Amino acid sequence: MKYLFANWKMYLGLDKSVKLIQNYTDNLNLDEDIEVAVFPSALSFSIVKELSKDSKIGIGSQNLYSVPEGGYTGEVSAKMYKDAGCEYALVGHSERRHIFGETNEDVNNKMKAVLENNLIPVLCVGETKEQKEGEKTDEVVKEQLFSALEGLDFKNKELFVAYEPVWAIGTGESCSNVSAEHMSGKIKEWVKGLQINAKLVILYGGSVRVENVEDYLKEKSIDGVLVGGASTKFDKWQEIVKKAK
Ligand code: PEP
Repeated sequence: MKYLFANWKMYLGLDKSVKLIQNYTDNLNLDEDIEVAVFPSALSFSIVKELSKDSKIGIGSQNLYSVPEGGYTGEVSAKMYKDAGCEYALVGHSERRHIFGETNEDVNNKMKAVLENNLIPVLCVGETKEQKEGEKTDEVVKEQLFSALEGLDFKNKELFVAYEPVWAIGTGESCSNVSAEHMSGKIKEWVKGLQINAKLVILYGGSVRVENVEDYLKEKSIDGVLVGGASTKFDKWQEIVKKAK
């Protein structure tokens, strides 16, 4: 199985989300061994869910709050997403960590809420350029993983980990497939050592494009890709899906 996950970020309003999901459902011709999932904005979530309900396309949240309900203006909880038909949840995306100040502790709380609500987590980890240049990549990624997964038992359910170097996200400067494979292998080892009973799936994310998607997908530890910018333009996304076939 190959996983092609589309993070639409805050690029698309309602009209554009509707048009894009219609293109996804009508024109992608997905094979059995390809899983496509979209992560629309909270505003577009329900309409995208409704329009994709008879298709093979999965749906996830870009962010959520760990408390089920209450006085948390502007937030949407894991429980609310679950009730709205959500399957996957991005957790700890670097834009949440670095723009909105999400800590490793916040990420751990979100992971707990995701599991409690039977959503499938897509935990994002990755180092900044500064950390990479300071040769801190392993330390940072390991700390992000260990703290996010602390106290969790997956009971044989899926855990997606997306290795997304921060310096490669939305920059056009992608990580080489060799380095991405190397880090994915380490992530596998680290997660195995934690004994959290997870079925681990590893994605690479960071400036994935038509031109480089095959390089990542051919690697043995990489099961799929998480794509931002290129997933919001249907012609590009269609080409990416074709390359994965
Ligand atoms: C992302 O948002 O997770 C991402 C990988 O973005 P982009 O593909 O635009 O680099």
